[in-house]
Amino acid sequence: MRARRRRAIDSSVPGRDLEYLAFRAGLKPAVRLTVSGADLAAAGAHYLAVGGHLAFVELPEERGGNPRRPSPRVFRERTARGGALFVAHSPQEAQALAELERKLIRRGPHPKPSVHAEEAIAIGRGLGYPDCCVEAFAERLRGAPSRRFRGSLGCRLRRRPTENSDDYVVARENWTPRADARLNHLLFRAGVKLLSYTPCRYDCPAALAQADLLLAELDRVEPGAGAGLLQQLAVTVVAAADHARAIVELEGDRIVEAHGPEHPEGSLAPVEGDVALAQSCVGARVLADGTVERGKRERFPPVALRFVAPGP
Ligand SMILES: [Zn+2]
Repeated sequence: MRARRRRAIDSSVPGRDLEYLAFRAGLKPAVRLTVSGADLAAAGAHYLAVGGHLAFVELPEERGGNPRRPSPRVFRERTARGGALFVAHSPQEAQALAELERKLIRRGPHPKPSVHAEEAIAIGRGLGYPDCCVEAFAERLRGAPSRRFRGSLGCRLRRRPTENSDDYVVARENWTPRADARLNHLLFRAGVKLLSYTPCRYDCPAALAQADLLLAELDRVEPGAGAGLLQQLAVTVVAAADHARAIVELEGDRIVEAHGPEHPEGSLAPVEGDVALAQSCVGARVLADGTVERGKRERFPPVALRFVAPGP
């Protein structure tokens, strides 16, 4: 347990409270929550009380990964008889988003990326994500050539359908020596996040503007909570291609300390993978492009990204 973690946000349903605050304040047109069967009623009641309209889509088990190769993630277990809960300011908007999700599900767990991208764009827009970030996500889904990796990283990784590696691809392709902590999307599964989407880059003005509105709302509701969350986000995170995460400390270019992100009860977290990743990182060298060199040849080596809180 890290003393510095400040429980400003109840993450018993991942991201629920920040999403809720943003929805209630009118900062988001709609939200999408992945909820377990046990949390569904409480999450729904929360939003109904502030005038939200709900639409629920039960997620099939295989959405959590390839059933023949059980996922290290606990997604399937956690969402048993649960699914995606859409909340919007009108019943039509909530239903429209749910219908898009159902379309995705009907296509099966691994639909053609080009087709999948259309619904993903529509859902992202409906949830109020910036166009640039939605487009970047769709581009990754389509496997369009990227500037630095000519598409190879995302495309090669996608051939391993059990790996939900989108965050890793983004961290590699947009790597920068100092990323803005407000856009830290790598601790999402630990419930530590401001945004509920992946930014197109680590200085995206549209995403930063949304992050600032959320921070202001958080501080309005609980003074100091925004600073507490920023402190949790301003860390160096190692992201592995298999979705594991570690928070690390460096001395020079060496990782001298590492631990898995602290996962609140109920979050969707691959805790075992996180611990193994943290252990394997201690003593590793971090190269100038963020690659974590663990003393063995790796096709998809982990990447270390330093998130820094914005200056005063
Ligand atoms: Zn963007």
